[in-house]
Amino acid sequence: MSKPFSDHDKRKQISVRGLAGVENVAELKVAFNRHLHFTLVKDRNVANKRDYYFALANTVRDHLVGRWIRTQQYYYEKDPKLGLDMEELEDMEEDAGLGNGGLGRLAACFLDSMASLGLAAYGYGIRYEFGIFNQKIVNGWQVEEADDWLRYGNPWEKARPEYMRAVKFYGRTEHTPDGVKWVDTQVVLALPYDTPIPGYRNNIVNTMRLWSAKAPCDFNLKDFNVGGYIQAVLDRNLCENISRVLYPNDNFFEGKELRLKQEYFVVAATLQDVVRRFKASKFGSREVVRTDFAELPNKVAIQLNDTHPAMAIPELMRVLVDEEKLGWDKAWDVCVRTCAYTNHTVLPEALERWPIDLFHHLLPRHLEIIFEINHRFMEFPGDHDRMRRMSLIEEGGCKKVNMAHLCIVGSHAVNGVARIHSEILIATLYVFKDFYELDPHKFQNKTNGITPRRWLVMCNPGLAEVIAEKIGEEFIRDLDQLKRLLKFINDDAFIRDIAKVKQENKLKFAVHLEEHYKVKINPQSMFDFQVKRIHEYKRQLLNCLHMITYYNRIKKEPNKHWTPRTIMVGGKAAPGYHTAKMIIRLITAIGEVVNHDPVVGDRLKVIFLENYRVTLAEKAIPSADLSEQISTAGTEASGTGNMKFMLNGALTIGTMDGANVEMAEEAGEENLFIFGMRVEDVDAMDAGKGYHASEYYNRIPELKQAMDQIAGGFFSPKQPDLFKELVDLLMHHDRFKVFADYEAYIKCQDKVNQLYKNPKEWTKMVIHNIAGCGKFSSDRTIAQYAREIWGMEPSLEKIPAPDEKLK
Ligand SMILES: *Cc1c(COP(=O)(O)O)cnc(C)c1O
Repeated sequence: MSKPFSDHDKRKQISVRGLAGVENVAELKVAFNRHLHFTLVKDRNVANKRDYYFALANTVRDHLVGRWIRTQQYYYEKDPKLGLDMEELEDMEEDAGLGNGGLGRLAACFLDSMASLGLAAYGYGIRYEFGIFNQKIVNGWQVEEADDWLRYGNPWEKARPEYMRAVKFYGRTEHTPDGVKWVDTQVVLALPYDTPIPGYRNNIVNTMRLWSAKAPCDFNLKDFNVGGYIQAVLDRNLCENISRVLYPNDNFFEGKELRLKQEYFVVAATLQDVVRRFKASKFGSREVVRTDFAELPNKVAIQLNDTHPAMAIPELMRVLVDEEKLGWDKAWDVCVRTCAYTNHTVLPEALERWPIDLFHHLLPRHLEIIFEINHRFMEFPGDHDRMRRMSLIEEGGCKKVNMAHLCIVGSHAVNGVARIHSEILIATLYVFKDFYELDPHKFQNKTNGITPRRWLVMCNPGLAEVIAEKIGEEFIRDLDQLKRLLKFINDDAFIRDIAKVKQENKLKFAVHLEEHYKVKINPQSMFDFQVKRIHEYKRQLLNCLHMITYYNRIKKEPNKHWTPRTIMVGGKAAPGYHTAKMIIRLITAIGEVVNHDPVVGDRLKVIFLENYRVTLAEKAIPSADLSEQISTAGTEASGTGNMKFMLNGALTIGTMDGANVEMAEEAGEENLFIFGMRVEDVDAMDAGKGYHASEYYNRIPELKQAMDQIAGGFFSPKQPDLFKELVDLLMHHDRFKVFADYEAYIKCQDKVNQLYKNPKEWTKMVIHNIAGCGKFSSDRTIAQYAREIWGMEPSLEKIPAPDEKLK
């Protein structure tokens, strides 16, 4: 199939790529050929697409290296010239799938913003050999495949064996007159791999450092004997398993020993790095080893992205008290002033609570330290019940360490990730209310954001160009400038341009789906997306009920004018999350019936998008007309998918949850399709008569019909009781109250259809949304973290490029 882009459009794309800055094509060509020859050891006769990708990647990397080194010192389509299709080469790049969903993606956006705002910042993590699994759909079911992303090598990383660190596990503690010793430990080495993080056109290149586990040379060879040698070398694998694979759960805690090992591994290696860098930092004019640890919080801020790195708190205490010989009180003061904690969820099943036995076995000294922290914390006056609620150690069958409590007590700042989420944190008893009452000044909000470089300029060059034609290019580093688009809200040419870019993106995505998945969709239909991890709280099931209802309506009145829709759902289910996998199966089952019904034709298609990940998001989101953000109010902490769609000119149908609330505030509530219960309504229902699914089922005929169809095997004729469990869940134990929002949701979807019939009014609403996006730049988020938590000042200044003179 041919590409929908004309030569004019290609030039347009290239000129926006120009925004991202390739200046000297001749030089580029020389460097490219040099890499193909000397690095890849290939010539044009034998080079394949992957070789060209690596040659290009290495060329770009060279461009970054000078700036990378300098920054660290300073802190201390067819391209006619190359004869290559750049888009095809871009597609060779593997996703670095080192996170599960929104949380990891947020960290990536933050790295981009920190470099673009000139902050001397490092991102730390684990270099998983296998990232989030690749999802295949086989006969309608999710099947997982290992993500062997490093198979062909990674051109962006640089191993730094000279900065290898030792991390200890197991053993026991000895309390001696000169302090506590942690002995008889097993050692695992942490080998750092550095990746450059370039800022936006400011010559700054920060570092992301990921740790890989490596067995020491003498691993298991202490009591060397001839028979043991081979086994000892084979057993090196066991300890190198620490960085083997990402746990694929999103918003769910799995208390496995290997996972606790991972969490401590990254923290222990990182803190050694931080302390080494502090000790080597300039001290007045003299260059000596620093020991004035009271200064640490003035030099370093550690931001804990959820409780996954919570072990940083007891580990920093261990380093300061046991190794650097600070007194407890001094060390604690340093620790609290250095650390800050971001909470990302209120779902109880997601909160990390580690069994004490496991802890004692793996990290005996840290458990002692946590007991000591708890003992001293529990000194405050208060009633017994409150003390029990706030303890870092939960009593009960098996004692557990509550990592969120540890983070709150060990940090000087605690924040939620959207206004409504931060309010819920301090207002709800089972979450952090008691801590708030004790220490209200600690609690803050930092509403999440996304980087406009990736999520607008890179993924949607056509839209970036149309915007730049009206307001220039400043919006790329100052997203609030998008407000200036409101001046053009009645400019017919502008409205047409915005609609045209959307149509082009839709066509392009339709071509992609046809080429890669052999599915044909109608590019004139409304592209309706729900793409995010599959989870009950995100309510993909509510979307399913709408698909079925719309289908039934078309069948009932086939000659009426129905707004054509392509409903696309994508996302991975955690491999152990049975209900989520059944939800995927239901969506594919609905698709099998709906997509083959000749009465419906192309007025409704239901597509499950396989293997949703960042590269697919970058293709899908620019093509979206409608963004589904339909979690039960009070359950989605912020969401960031919602922001990506808004910035790319989709309208939102959503509940008053997470950042949707602030999106409505920024764009005007009349410019979003808001429906359903508010948090107050949910709370009132729980406090009052409760949620009874059967009442809705009995009262609403279309809901009853849809449920009866699912239950009766209408979508699974070969296996009529396939969805029995899902039906039972929805009817009898639905924590997320799907039916309670069904009526409001369907009515709201009717309004969406009505507006879609009026393209001009639709596009004007889109423009209101784009213009209201400024707040959702991660630059704004990071500037607030910097000023309000880290005590740093962001800067848009350029530093000199390596070939320029330092002034
Ligand atoms: C942004 C993003 C997410 C988060 O989406 P939500 O709708 O906020 O849950 C998840 N996965 C990918 C690949 C993303 O790019």
